[in-house]
Amino acid sequence: MEHQEYQERLALHALDALDAEEARALEDHLQACAQCRAELIELRDAAGLLAHASTPAAPGSEVRARILANSHAERQPASAAQVIAMPRRATKLWPNLIRLAAGVAFVALLVGVIVFWRRDVKSRQEIAQLSRQVNTQQHELVRDRDVLARQREALALLNSPNAKKMELTAGQTAQNARGTFVYDQKTGRAILMAEGLPATPADKAYELWFIPKGHSPMAGRMFTIDASGHAMLPEQMPAEAMENAVIAITLEPKKGSAVPTGAIYLTSPSS
Ligand SMILES: [Zn+2]
Repeated sequence: MEHQEYQERLALHALDALDAEEARALEDHLQACAQCRAELIELRDAAGLLAHASTPAAPGSEVRARILANSHAERQPASAAQVIAMPRRATKLWPNLIRLAAGVAFVALLVGVIVFWRRDVKSRQEIAQLSRQVNTQQHELVRDRDVLARQREALALLNSPNAKKMELTAGQTAQNARGTFVYDQKTGRAILMAEGLPATPADKAYELWFIPKGHSPMAGRMFTIDASGHAMLPEQMPAEAMENAVIAITLEPKKGSAVPTGAIYLTSPSS
């Protein structure tokens, strides 16, 4: 070991933080090196001063490594510029105090805690962002699958020999709206396709009605339109409505109505 390496361990020695073997090797070097002896005396003085301010604790291995790394890093520029520029004797105590203070476990641990805390915060943010992305993708996947399933269902229904198709025409309220209602005359499986309906206010939704002849309106599903003004929804025709029912769509409070209360937007021709 060289003089400089021993010199870096002086602060630890002043804190009694070297193990027995390291301490013995350093003591041997001290026999031969007046500079290290002098520095150790100053460091012990500083350690004595520090002892009044805080309880000196023997640093753990990680802290020791930090102290060594710090003193090593400090020494590189200091040996070239600082030592020559500064009157050595007078200013020696304070840098030593500072070096020792930096060596106190609390300071090093605090730095460590801050570093880990920052890393932790960063990775937690990354995890949160990732899970948001996954949620969005899953959401889109479910929606695509949903749309696909409905389209397939609509196609199957349209191709069915039992299918009955009803054109829905606009009432006074939404003149650009039009729709198609198709249902299987055997099973009652039905699908509504609508377009050109106005966007619904936040507290409203469209409601589908079946009005069998001589019967009061029967509530079907609630629905809203997508961004392009389309709606496609599967429905099950009530048994009472299988023959000669009128299909109508009204705008209702979002939670739905038991009887139609709003204006008629779309309706099938009454037969
Ligand atoms: Zn030395």
